Amino acid sequence: MNQPADTIAAIATPPGKGGIGIVRISGPRVSEIMQALFHKQLSPRRAELLPFKNTAGETLDRGIALFFEAPHSYTGEDVLELQGHVGPVVLNLLLQRILELGARLAGPGEFTERAFLNDKMDLAQAEAVIDLIESSSEQGVKAAARSLEGAFSGDVQRLLAKLKHVRMYIEAALDFPEEEIDFLSDAHLHKNVAGLCGEIDSVLESAHQGRLLKEGLSIVILGRPNAGKSSLLNRLAGRDSAIVTEFPGTTRDVLREHIHIDGLPLHIIDTAGLRDSDDPIEQEGVKRAWKEVEKADRVLLLVDNRLGLGPVEERILERIPAMLPVDIIHNKLDLHGEKPFLSKTPRGVVAGLSVKTGEGWQLLTDHLKKSVGYEQTAENQYSARRRHIEALKTVKICVNGAQQRLMEGAGELAAEELRLAQEALSRVTGEFSSDDLLGEIFSNFCIGK
Ligand code: GDP
Repeated sequence: MNQPADTIAAIATPPGKGGIGIVRISGPRVSEIMQALFHKQLSPRRAELLPFKNTAGETLDRGIALFFEAPHSYTGEDVLELQGHVGPVVLNLLLQRILELGARLAGPGEFTERAFLNDKMDLAQAEAVIDLIESSSEQGVKAAARSLEGAFSGDVQRLLAKLKHVRMYIEAALDFPEEEIDFLSDAHLHKNVAGLCGEIDSVLESAHQGRLLKEGLSIVILGRPNAGKSSLLNRLAGRDSAIVTEFPGTTRDVLREHIHIDGLPLHIIDTAGLRDSDDPIEQEGVKRAWKEVEKADRVLLLVDNRLGLGPVEERILERIPAMLPVDIIHNKLDLHGEKPFLSKTPRGVVAGLSVKTGEGWQLLTDHLKKSVGYEQTAENQYSARRRHIEALKTVKICVNGAQQRLMEGAGELAAEELRLAQEALSRVTGEFSSDDLLGEIFSNFCIGK
């Protein structure tokens, strides 16, 4: 076990007043601290009601003490949890006492980091801990819990095992040059590599869904002033977030809303109407709108149906990066009594609806869910992050490369591609990770977790 020399302590519950607050202590000095506090050793995993005293022997609080003996604890080290009453002062006094007894204050995520270092969980599971805490929907919670239980890590481990198997086979072939050609042209090997490609795709798909649940889809609403952008934001948000008037140019800054459609998180960004203006505030708003486009997953270009798709919209379309999906939404159909519609275009869809009356609204929300392959009902979803997707994409490229090399009979190059794939896959679970990456991940945790 990887045992850091020091003992850490922190308040593990949120600040404020409440029923129960927990001070958590982990590390090699737990036993010593327990002795000093209670003048005895507690039996592991048995709750005891005890007085918590300060250095002078005065009682600060009475509460439950729980001892978890290494390695059967969250961190894999000896852990002591003191459950007391929560007030702005009482828990801090208790923590102070623990620090006097030789612990030091834990950094953000340090308990979970120790759990990772002591092999209690892998990196994807550690990330799922934050995802669970931060989940803003029921689906998000369930997906994070599945990741925490190891569903995602399990898939990655299975892929890793198959990858290693194929790689070993090829490397063994390279060690016997006289039989190498036979080895490498073995149909069984080619089938295995092809199977691996299929499995990577399926894990990538699940991870993609998982990332959506966690990070959501970022959508920027663009269009000329008065097209109905703010009305669209308000309808999505289900409340009056942006000011709607008949006067063009009301939204001058960028407005953001975080909403869910059937559990799919969306970050909606309403922008200033895109028109040439002499007003410096409006100009700045337009500049900001374009900045948002650079970071978006999708653009909704809102068109006032009475005016149609004109030169203003054409110019906007030209400026949107070619790879970014764009949906063109003709709004205000109610004014003509037209029926809602939706049809596919090379970059997204073109749709007609009325934000005001809600006609055609379902077409838009269904399309947004479908556009990202979001299935609300998927039972086996797990949470995942952008970094996991990037790693899996690298794995896919390398394994495809290996497949190509094998067909060319270039065994050594195929083995190298597989080695790179294995390295990328190991980054997901943290078997292969830099200190920088660990620092970045755990610094996003709260103290006490
Ligand atoms: P923005 O400048 O693009 O943000 O547009 P707003 O959302 O402020 O809307 C401009 C005007 O169009 C307001 O008077 C809205 O009430 C009106 N409007 C927006 N959507 C519709 C719609 O679907 N039908 C009709 N009739 N009016 C709409």
